[in-house]
Amino acid sequence: MNILIKDILLYDKTVDVLIEDNKFKTIGKVDTTKTKIDKTINGKDKAILPAFYNLHCHAAMNILRGFCEDLPLFEWLQNIWKKEDTLKGEDIYNGTRLAILEMIKSGTVFFADMYWFHKDVIRAAKDMGIRADVGLTFMNKLDRKTIDENFDFLNNYSKDKNEIVKVSPTPHAIYTCDDKLYKECYDNAKKNNLFLQTHLCETEQEVNDCKKAHNGMTPVEYLDNAGVLDNNTIAAHCVYLTENDSKILANRGVVLVHNPCSNMKLSSGVFNMPQNRKYNCKIALGTDGTSSNNNLSMMEEMKMACLLAKVSFKKADALTANEIFDIATKKGAEYYNINAGEIKEGMQADCIIVDLNNERMVPNYNIIYNMVYSADSTCINGVICNGKILMEDRHVDNEQEIIEIAKRYNAKN
Ligand SMILES: [Zn+2]
Repeated sequence: MNILIKDILLYDKTVDVLIEDNKFKTIGKVDTTKTKIDKTINGKDKAILPAFYNLHCHAAMNILRGFCEDLPLFEWLQNIWKKEDTLKGEDIYNGTRLAILEMIKSGTVFFADMYWFHKDVIRAAKDMGIRADVGLTFMNKLDRKTIDENFDFLNNYSKDKNEIVKVSPTPHAIYTCDDKLYKECYDNAKKNNLFLQTHLCETEQEVNDCKKAHNGMTPVEYLDNAGVLDNNTIAAHCVYLTENDSKILANRGVVLVHNPCSNMKLSSGVFNMPQNRKYNCKIALGTDGTSSNNNLSMMEEMKMACLLAKVSFKKADALTANEIFDIATKKGAEYYNINAGEIKEGMQADCIIVDLNNERMVPNYNIIYNMVYSADSTCINGVICNGKILMEDRHVDNEQEIIEIAKRYNAKN
């Protein structure tokens, strides 16, 4: 399908954007007499920008939004795990669809997910047309049969490079998986050319327990020693890192996913932006699940990341709007090997269409400043993912049905 976006603002220029199949074909002047156009979008009073890539999330937890609050991580996890034991595949599908709806409405076109019932998460992502890396969670508490079934699933999942819903082995964390299980996951990821997702150094307790159990090694040293860190490793949180940890992660090319809202809400700690940048670590941005956030807006996450860095490190440029926008868009795509994240000819057509008449977007001295510090979801009028329109004039297919189903969940169920 060919989509023409007419007269839209791309930073400081008004351009036409032609999307052919799943790529940006022309940016500039489009000769409509020579190209068959299936759909035209009027870009007047609108701007086109890269979409967001959410590199750490537990999408289905949307049905646990507000389930229990104001507890520290380990206590909170106990409550959540008890509730999770009651969830079934259909609940996961419903929760994931609600999460994807929320993500599309706030301009996100990709999420790296970590949860249970991967088949239902995959089904939800495919039904809604969003990109995803669906993690299959591994923990030592799982029986061997389930672990083997998960590895088989990863071995047999589609290797089609045009498939936008991918899968990955996801050893949950060092306090739920030993180094042997990590290594099995790592070997599977290598064999199948997949990413490996994990939580890492989220709390001080995790680090202290690890040192006690493993001859003074930090969690990063422990995983490096196990040989499971490389440029296909996605490590969420990374709050408690020594200088040496940051150096190791940078050298190995590990992607550090900053989750400012969740880290603040669970009182976990502050991501050391200056230290990680000093060592040129790869830094991406994620929302974590809605039980610890409580929404999936990457715009809110960008603002929080900047404010947290500025107040924690007492420097106005500890993290700037341009830097975090780059991290939330281009860098996220790049680290996940998605040829997108910029509005450029030849790249895959992922973008958001921003409403310049929205009260939060005026005046428009600098659109990135507005997007990071002022905008909310209502500023996003349209979303295109891999050349497909996922939202137009703020409407997403089946949104009313998704919301009606989600309403059935509450504390009593
Ligand atoms: Zn998480």
